[in-house]
Amino acid sequence: MNTLGTAIMTLSEAAARHSEPGPGVTRVLGSAEHRALLVDLRRWMQEAGLSVELDAAGNLVGRTPTVEGARTLIIGSHQDSVRQGGKYDGMLGILLPLVVLQHLHQQGKTLAVNVELVAFSDEEGARFSSTLVGSSALAGTFDPALLEATDANGITMAEALRELGANPEGIAELARTPDQVCGYLEVHIEQGPVLESLGLPVGVVTAITGIERHAVSLIGKAGHAGTTPMTLRRDAMVAATQVVQAVDHHCRHTEDLVGVVGELVVTPNAVNVIPSRVDLTIELRSPFTEIRLAARKALFGDIAQRLASSGCELRHRLTYQQSEVRCADTLQQQLSRAIEQAGYKSHRLFSGAGHDGLAMAHLTDVGMLFVRCKDGLSHHPDESITVEDAEATAQVLTHYLLNLEA
Ligand SMILES: [Zn+2]
Repeated sequence: MNTLGTAIMTLSEAAARHSEPGPGVTRVLGSAEHRALLVDLRRWMQEAGLSVELDAAGNLVGRTPTVEGARTLIIGSHQDSVRQGGKYDGMLGILLPLVVLQHLHQQGKTLAVNVELVAFSDEEGARFSSTLVGSSALAGTFDPALLEATDANGITMAEALRELGANPEGIAELARTPDQVCGYLEVHIEQGPVLESLGLPVGVVTAITGIERHAVSLIGKAGHAGTTPMTLRRDAMVAATQVVQAVDHHCRHTEDLVGVVGELVVTPNAVNVIPSRVDLTIELRSPFTEIRLAARKALFGDIAQRLASSGCELRHRLTYQQSEVRCADTLQQQLSRAIEQAGYKSHRLFSGAGHDGLAMAHLTDVGMLFVRCKDGLSHHPDESITVEDAEATAQVLTHYLLNLEA
């Protein structure tokens, strides 16, 4: 069996061949690989009974036959990858719904709503340090200044979009209005180990995490590592270890909060000199703003206490902040029901990574299904899912679509 799962895996392999050379998949906005993928994708969408259009932002949009007076469900994910990424991050959310729509088409089943299947041109932003280009165009939040962003060779995003056959001047007109759309649904690999640890193929996303980043400096005093008595030192590295411990401690003891000290720069970074300065980053993520803000306050209070006797000065500033996006309750309930209809236990989990839903939430209700991935691994050539999980998720999506009412 696994007819749908097998079709999804076959298309995933075919799509992954459109990649720059090297390990894994590298496919960026407006590249030759992107253009080549669109040729295949257009054909596959047409075979699924969809009418296909490349829009001004380089999104490939496939539409089901129009149901007069019905609103539109947008289903999609991104065609682009990180450098040396995997086969499923993004593409699974295009190919899995495509196979489901093709199956429904072949069975002569019609839906109560219009469906637009969208292969977003750019979400990861590996070429132009952009993000959510395709989805922000549909949501009406695209920043036109991005068109002047350049890649490593000085090519602008506008030029890359034209090369693809898109029309950057027309992006503003792509914005949908909320009354035209009944929701946005994305299928995505989990990129984490939760579903695997629970033994479940698929789960319902409750929220896309909020995130904040801080730049922290610890200022101590350099000194000879042999001659300065331990009691007279102002060692910035020792102070930094307290910050690392505090972040880890607070995140371990706060539900729905994760965090990391991911960067650390030591000055002067010499084997026999007491570190005079450490610059580091703190990143906190939570699906709940109130938890994140409370954790920030508690964390910096704790750090101040831990550093009180260190003789080191603490400087910090917030460098980035993005609030979470809650997935709509109705969509969560509908997706849970579809999972149970397909014979699985419905589990809800939050997304610790960003997705196109961050942009689409400006337009409409957002729902997401996560598919179990092997070892929780993503953004990596070894990213992997099973044919059984692809089949299970396709069955869930089929139930969800057939349950929809006008
Ligand atoms: Zn993704």
